[in-house]
Amino acid sequence: SPGSRSKDSLDLRDIFIAVKTTRKYHKSRLQLLSQTWSIILPSTRGKTPNTFFLILLTMDATIFNIILNRLGNEAVVSCVLFCRWFCHMDDDNYVILPSLLELLSSYSHTQDVYLGRPSLDHPIEAAERVKSDGSFWFATGGAGFCISRGLALKMSPWASLGNFITTAEKIRLPDDCTVGYIIEALLEVPLTHTGLFHSHLENLQRLPTDNILQQVTLSYGGFENRRNVVSVGGAFSLAEDPTRFKTVHCLLYPDTEWCPHKTRH
Ligand code: UDP
Ligand code: MN
Repeated sequence: SPGSRSKDSLDLRDIFIAVKTTRKYHKSRLQLLSQTWSIILPSTRGKTPNTFFLILLTMDATIFNIILNRLGNEAVVSCVLFCRWFCHMDDDNYVILPSLLELLSSYSHTQDVYLGRPSLDHPIEAAERVKSDGSFWFATGGAGFCISRGLALKMSPWASLGNFITTAEKIRLPDDCTVGYIIEALLEVPLTHTGLFHSHLENLQRLPTDNILQQVTLSYGGFENRRNVVSVGGAFSLAEDPTRFKTVHCLLYPDTEWCPHKTRH
C-alpha cells in the first residue's frame, strides 16, 4: 500500500544522524548544513520519527551521551528503539545521503558493524591496558562514522548514561578514539575501513572530480589550508561557495530553489 515500506530496504528514516557542533560554529557552519544536505532528511512531524538531524550544543558530546541525555524527547527514544544505524558527523561534513544509504544497505544492521575511515595508518595504543595487546583502530570523527544497531546495543555498558565520559576519562583520549576503544578493544569488533568518508586531514583536492558524488562524506578546510576543498565545478565560484558544499548539493539536487537553473526557452 502507498506509504508502507519494505521490511528490508533501508531508507533515511532508519538512520540516526548526529552532528557534533558547538555554539561558536552555529553561524559559520550550521547555516550551511541547514541549507544543504540536512534539508533532504524526511520530516518527522506528525509521523513516528525514526531519523534525526540532531544539533548538539555541548562541547564534547557524542551520539551516545546525547541520545541518553535526551531520553525525555519522545522522538529520540523512538529512534533509539527502532533505528537501524547510528551515524556521527562533524559540523564541517557534507553527507551525500544517497551514497550513505547505498553503503549501509550493503551491511546488516543486526550484525556488529563499525564503519569509518581510520585516521592513522596504524592502530593506536590505549594507556589503560585491556584484553589482547591493547592496540585498536578508530574511525576519525572528522570524517564521520556509522555503527549498526546490533553493535550500538552492545556498547551501552560503556557508552550510556554518563559511562561514555567515564570511559573517555579513563583512557584520556578524544571522543572518536573512545568509540574505537569501546568497539575494537573492549568488544573486539573490528573497524570496517572505508575510503568513502573524508575529513580535512586528507588532501581533498586530490579526490577525483568524477567520483565525488559517490563518496559518503566530504569536508573542507583545516587549520593550515583554507583552500583544502573538493575540486568540483558547476553552479558557484570558489568565492561564492568556498566550501564547495553548495556546488555539490546542486549537482545532487539540481531542482533546489536556490541552485542556478539553466534559462528555459
Ligand atoms: N567542537 C566542539 N567543541 C569545541 C570545538 C569543536 O564540539 O569546543 C566540534 C566542532 O563543532 C566539530 C568538531 O568538534 O564538529 C571538530 O572541530 P573542528 O572542525 O573545529 O576541529 P578539527 O576538525 O580540526 O579537529
Ligand atoms: Mn573539522
